[in-house]
Amino acid sequence: MKNIYFTPGPAELYPTFYQHLQTAMDEQIGSISHRSKQFRDIYRFADEQLRTLLSIPDSHGIFFTGSASEVWERVLFNCVEHESFHLVNGSFSQKFYDYAGALHKHAHVLNKPFGEGFDAADIDVPEYAELVCLTHNETSSGVQMKPAEMHKLKRKYPKKLFCVDMVSSAPYPDLDFSLIDSAFFSVQKAFGMPAGLGVWISNQACLEKAEYLQKSDSMTIGAHHTLPTLWKHYKDFETPATPNVLFIYLLGKIAEDFNRIGIDTIRKQTEEKARMLYKFLETSDTYEPFVKQERHRSQTVVVATTGRKSPADVISTAKAANMIVGSGYGKFKESQIRIANFPAVSADQVAALIEALKK
Ligand SMILES: *Cc1c(COP(=O)(O)O)cnc(C)c1O
Repeated sequence: MKNIYFTPGPAELYPTFYQHLQTAMDEQIGSISHRSKQFRDIYRFADEQLRTLLSIPDSHGIFFTGSASEVWERVLFNCVEHESFHLVNGSFSQKFYDYAGALHKHAHVLNKPFGEGFDAADIDVPEYAELVCLTHNETSSGVQMKPAEMHKLKRKYPKKLFCVDMVSSAPYPDLDFSLIDSAFFSVQKAFGMPAGLGVWISNQACLEKAEYLQKSDSMTIGAHHTLPTLWKHYKDFETPATPNVLFIYLLGKIAEDFNRIGIDTIRKQTEEKARMLYKFLETSDTYEPFVKQERHRSQTVVVATTGRKSPADVISTAKAANMIVGSGYGKFKESQIRIANFPAVSADQVAALIEALKK
């Protein structure tokens, strides 16, 4: 019997993935030139489907990278001359901040303890910060920042560039791209694909910043996947380097499947499954939701403390029922489990997981 993966990335593959992969093989997608019309049509299709799904306006381009963590580096290289600002409350937001230090940016940070979240009212952005780096879903702790809070913050600091890591939640967060300059994700989380492709959404303001920095004698925006080269090729639906053509094809197809269901329905289903999970945790005499503030609880990665049960036992009991749940992150392996609630898992499968966790 096959397992169902409730792990927060890599995760359960979206049910239509196999069929799309088969079609791609039949159409010999793996052998076509990335300078062919066939590829440009594949890129254009993925672009159209993602634009519809995430309401991305024409002011923003959609670019492909090797991974989401690559985008941490790209956006810092391309959009920061001196100073960035980071909200950090877990391992992924911490890594984004660490990348800034490694690139010798002057990185400001506002820290919150693991399991706590941010609201706009908590935040003063430092005067000279050029780029505000937010994480919609902190995958390590199961904390989300609501898009409305991000939008509120941008309205308070309209001149600063805002970048959102939406890696473990896209397409769930309803970002207003008239306010969010840049956002990115990778496909092995909520899009239900294997790892191997990053998606970077960025607007003209980011491009202008990169072009300005590129002219400076004392700065570098790097050599690989710079925003000006990505954008130049994007105008013809091409890429600077040979891209993961197969995955761009598959992402377009899965985004089309999501659009057929409708993003509103996908968001509602996500919330309904999250509600089932949190309700179970709250009423259980063993488990507890790790995140105490309801508004900060992630809808896509649910983190639970396992109380008197050991996480290892919980994980192996679920595994015996062919369900794979994630371990806690880092030192929280000893006390927590993480359950991914991505579109690839149905409400029935979530109900079955809840039954298994009760045992
Ligand atoms: C998984 C993850 C990343 C890194 O994505 P990669 O595809 O491994 O580069 C970044 N941010 C968050 C919030 C993540 O969950």
